[in-house]
Amino acid sequence: MAKDYITFTINEKKDIALIAHDNEKPKLIQWCKDNYGILKQHNLYGTGTTSRMIADQTGLRIKAYNSGPLGGDQQIGAKIVEGVIDFIIFFSDPLTAQPHDPDVKALMRIAQVYDIPMAINKATADFMLQSRLMDEKYDHEVINFRKSVEERAETL
Ligand code: PGA
Repeated sequence: MAKDYITFTINEKKDIALIAHDNEKPKLIQWCKDNYGILKQHNLYGTGTTSRMIADQTGLRIKAYNSGPLGGDQQIGAKIVEGVIDFIIFFSDPLTAQPHDPDVKALMRIAQVYDIPMAINKATADFMLQSRLMDEKYDHEVINFRKSVEERAETL
């Protein structure tokens, strides 16, 4: 009988997505500068504008996806499903309505489904980056999606 959960591993070298809504971009860029030494040890990804500003203003290497309102958050969600991205720092703006709010919710939901560490503010990001787990492999249990599809196809 196939297991309900399968073990995924977040490696010592993390695949980190960096995203900030417009009002929060200066804060994220300063946070990247403050944590340059740690961040440069990992693979960085981000939504379009956030990535460009981080690269220009901090010198960190970062792979850019599309801009958030044009589908960048969805691309990052897809990379979580593919197992490419396993860590998210998202400085979201709690005070301003976003045109792509459904995409933001979808990203948070898929991060929950795949048990991905996700900070949505600076304090959480600080605690995550200072965690001893940043330097270790971390095994976590994720729903066995193959089994789930098989069962659903048989029972629905
Ligand atoms: P941006 O997208 O980095 O392209 O501005 C971020 C977002 O608003 O989701």
